[in-house]
Amino acid sequence: MRLSLRRFPLRKAVPLAISRGVSSTVEHLLVTIEHDGVVGHGETGGFDTGHRHHDTDAIAAELEALVPRLAPLAPEPLQSLEPWLAALSPPARCGLDLALHDWWGRRLGCPLHRLWGLDPEACVATSVTLGLGEPEAVVARLERWWALLPASRIKLKLGSPSGLAHDLALLEAVAAALEQRRQIAGAPCELQVDANGGWDLEVAHAMLPQLQRAGVVLLEQPLAPLADPDRDTAGFAALQHGCALPLVADESCWDLADLLRLAPHVDGINIKLLKSGGLAEALLMARTARRLGLGVMLGCYSDGSLLNGAAAQLLPLVHWPDLDSHLNLIDDPFLGLDRRDDVLLPPSGPGLGVLPGPALAEEVR
Ligand SMILES: [Mg+2]
Repeated sequence: MRLSLRRFPLRKAVPLAISRGVSSTVEHLLVTIEHDGVVGHGETGGFDTGHRHHDTDAIAAELEALVPRLAPLAPEPLQSLEPWLAALSPPARCGLDLALHDWWGRRLGCPLHRLWGLDPEACVATSVTLGLGEPEAVVARLERWWALLPASRIKLKLGSPSGLAHDLALLEAVAAALEQRRQIAGAPCELQVDANGGWDLEVAHAMLPQLQRAGVVLLEQPLAPLADPDRDTAGFAALQHGCALPLVADESCWDLADLLRLAPHVDGINIKLLKSGGLAEALLMARTARRLGLGVMLGCYSDGSLLNGAAAQLLPLVHWPDLDSHLNLIDDPFLGLDRRDDVLLPPSGPGLGVLPGPALAEEVR
């Protein structure tokens, strides 16, 4: 098979601030494989969870090194490629895993969710994200979302470096805006909170009653993720007692091993393809989480709609979709990911169902 890479920029319409910093532009990689007249595409790029960091240059170097090694091999059966995938970092594996799955689905002429027997009618609304900022600016961002789509599920980022008082002011302002919308438009909105590891145990305990008072429905990653798995698990265990809100692990939960480790102490996990290393592991995680009675969130980083379209193939298994990054791009180079109001739909085209648009396709050629 022929493996090739292209870099492309993704620029955000509204920069996103979270507890770890602000992002406005990223560079991602288009990973393409060609074999037997069929082409498959994947997307990947660097990201940071506070305790682990991957940059796009290192991911590109890993994949470049594979070009001559994969040349004599075929992309099917997918299982025969597993040893090559296993040796890669999660984001490099994600790029190749997506391209292989896209190739496989296109070869069979079928979208992945159909090959997996999933029901596209089972999808629910995605949340949209409100980053950190001054309360007036964050409420203005919320209005901007409402101008674009119904936005019935809101994810508010807290864990502000400015401290607890700023988090409380933000929570109050957003909860008031949601209540006002409910009264005026009659449209109820769900409020989720993601602290991105920005709190310690004391702050988290102080925030819990405030979150409940504001009608928050779930709390994501309150404590910083820790490289030592036992200490990381202990943080969730310490918070679990006295926490009436569903507790969701994101930065702490990358793969199936993390899911099994955290399962007794959380109510849900946030799966992201760049953390899991692609769709094979993500499908296993979603099915396992459901079997264990955990809620499944499906999230994104600063991703284009090839990555989000790949994730969308799993949406029928997801309770809390959180795939909004492509809706905030001024130059998303891909076509094929659609939505009905604020419900993203698994793309219906073969494979991932998302293709490079004219600008990127021209470059690839
Ligand atoms: Mg999160």
